[in-house]
Amino acid sequence: MKGISYWIEKRAMITPKRIALIDEQQQLTYLEMNRLVHNYASVLQSVYAIQKGDRVGVLAGNGIDYIITLFAVAKLNAIVVPLNIRLTADELTYQISDSGLRTFIVDDEHYDRGVELQERIPLNLLTFQSLQQNTPSLSNVDEPDPLAPYIICYTSGTTGRPKGAVLTQENMYWNAVNNSLGLDITSKDKVITLLPLFHIGGIGLFTFPTLLAGGTVIVPDRFDSGQALNMIEKHRVTIVMGVPAIHDAIRKSSNFDQTDLSSVRFFYNGGAPCPEELIRFYFQKGIQFGQGYGLTETSPTVFLLSEENFETKIGSIGKPVLFTDIKIVDEEGRGVKAGEIGELLVKGPNVIREYWNLPEATAQTFQDGWFATGDMVRQDDEGFVFIAGRKKEMIISGGENIYPLEIERVLYEMEEVDEVAVIGASHEKWGETPIAIVVMKSGTSLTDEQLRSYCASKLARYKVPSKFIFVSALPKNATGKIDKPSLKKHYTEEVMKL
Ligand code: ATP
Repeated sequence: MKGISYWIEKRAMITPKRIALIDEQQQLTYLEMNRLVHNYASVLQSVYAIQKGDRVGVLAGNGIDYIITLFAVAKLNAIVVPLNIRLTADELTYQISDSGLRTFIVDDEHYDRGVELQERIPLNLLTFQSLQQNTPSLSNVDEPDPLAPYIICYTSGTTGRPKGAVLTQENMYWNAVNNSLGLDITSKDKVITLLPLFHIGGIGLFTFPTLLAGGTVIVPDRFDSGQALNMIEKHRVTIVMGVPAIHDAIRKSSNFDQTDLSSVRFFYNGGAPCPEELIRFYFQKGIQFGQGYGLTETSPTVFLLSEENFETKIGSIGKPVLFTDIKIVDEEGRGVKAGEIGELLVKGPNVIREYWNLPEATAQTFQDGWFATGDMVRQDDEGFVFIAGRKKEMIISGGENIYPLEIERVLYEMEEVDEVAVIGASHEKWGETPIAIVVMKSGTSLTDEQLRSYCASKLARYKVPSKFIFVSALPKNATGKIDKPSLKKHYTEEVMKL
C-alpha cells in the first residue's frame, strides 16, 4: 500500500487544476496542494529534523494549513497528534507528555497558548508560517509503512481519561475507501468540514474520503451556523456532515430559510444519538438526511445508512461499511438474535491495533481480535442496526437494565423539549434510578408532572425518571456531545438526596 500523501501526488498529476481545498482566505488546486504538502514536509525534515516515528502536535483551529500538515507528516512517516483547542493547560500537558511529542505547530490564534505550554514542558514551537519557507527538496524518505503509527487521536474522554488511539495510514486509507464507496463520494462532491480537525470526525468524515475521490473540501476556521450556511450556498456544497448539535444550530440559524440549499445531496449525522425529530425536520424542508456511526478507534466509520434508506429507516445507523465486519454479542460473547440487544464488536482494516502506551487497555478492549465498542445495539430483520445505548451509561434499577437513550428518545418526542440527558442516580431501595436533566424550548414550559406522565404512558414504570431537573443549557464537549460525566459530577448532590 502507498502512503496517503500519494493520493495528492497522483491527483496533482491527473487532475491538477481541480479545486482541492477552500477556506476563508484561499483556495488551492490539487497541484498547489501537493506543492504545499511537499514544502511543509521538506521544512519539517530539513529545518526541524522530523523523522519517521517522531510525534508532531498541532494546536490550531480548522483551516487549509491543518490539512496540509496532516499530509506532510504522513509523507515523513512521522506521527501527528491533533490537540483539542478547548482543553485546559493541564489536560494538554497530559496529552503532550503521554504522546512524548517534542515539536508542535500552532496557528496565530493559539500562539500564546503554545508559549504557555512551552513554559511547562520543553517543546519546539512552530507556526504554520514557519513551514512555508524555501528549503531543499525532501531527502531519503522511506516508503510509508502502512502499519506504523500515523495519528495519535485522543478519545473524547466522555467515559474516562482520554486514551491515545493509534491510527495508521492503512486505517485512514480503508476508512476513506469505506466512506467514499458507502456514500458514493466522487470528484464532483464538495464537502464542508464542520467538525474540528483535532477530532477523528473532522479528518475521517469526510475530509480524507473526499480528497481520495478528488473532490473539494471546504473548511471554515470554526463552526458558526450562519457562516456555514453562507459557505454552503456560495460554494455549492453537496455534503454537510455534523453531530446533532451542529444540525440543530444550522436549522435554528436566522438565515436558514433564506439559504439556497439546492446543491446539497444530503446532511449526515454521526458521533452522537440524533433525535428523530431533528432528522424529520430536514425531510420536511425537502432535504435528505442520513446517519452513520463510528468511533475514534475505527478511524471512525463502522456503519452508514445508504441514500436509498435515509427516509425508510430514520433512526437507524445503517449497515456495516464494505470492508468492515461486525458481531453483536451477549455477555458470554454469543451472537444475539435479530431484535435482541447486544454489544457491538468490530473487526476490519480501519480498526486500531493499540492504544498508545496502554497494553492493558488494548488487551481489555479486544476480544479474539474483535474490538469491543462498549455500545449496545440491536439489528432488525433486514440487517439495519439501531443504537440502544452505551454499556457504561446503563442504569441498573432493581435488577432491570435501563438505557438512558431510550428515555431520552421518549422525552425528545415532546415538542417543548429542546435537549435532554438522562443519568443514573443512586437510590436507597433500587440501587440506581434514572433522573432527567431537561432544557425546554424558549417560550415553553412544562411541569415535572407533565413530563412524568408522558414518560409513564410510553415506558415501563422503572424507566420513568425519578426526578426532572430543568436547566438552561447542557454542557457539551468540543465535538458537541453532551458531557455526561460533568453532569454526573455536577448533580451528585441531587443524586444523594434521592
Ligand atoms: P470516550 O471513548 O473517551 O468515552 P467517546 O466515546 O465520546 O469518548 P468518540 O470516539 O468521540 O469517543 O465517540 C464514539 C462514540 O460516539 C460511540 O462509541 C457511540 O457511543 C457514539 N456514537 C457515534 N455515532 C453515533 C450515532 N450515530 N448514534 C449514537 N451514538 C453514536
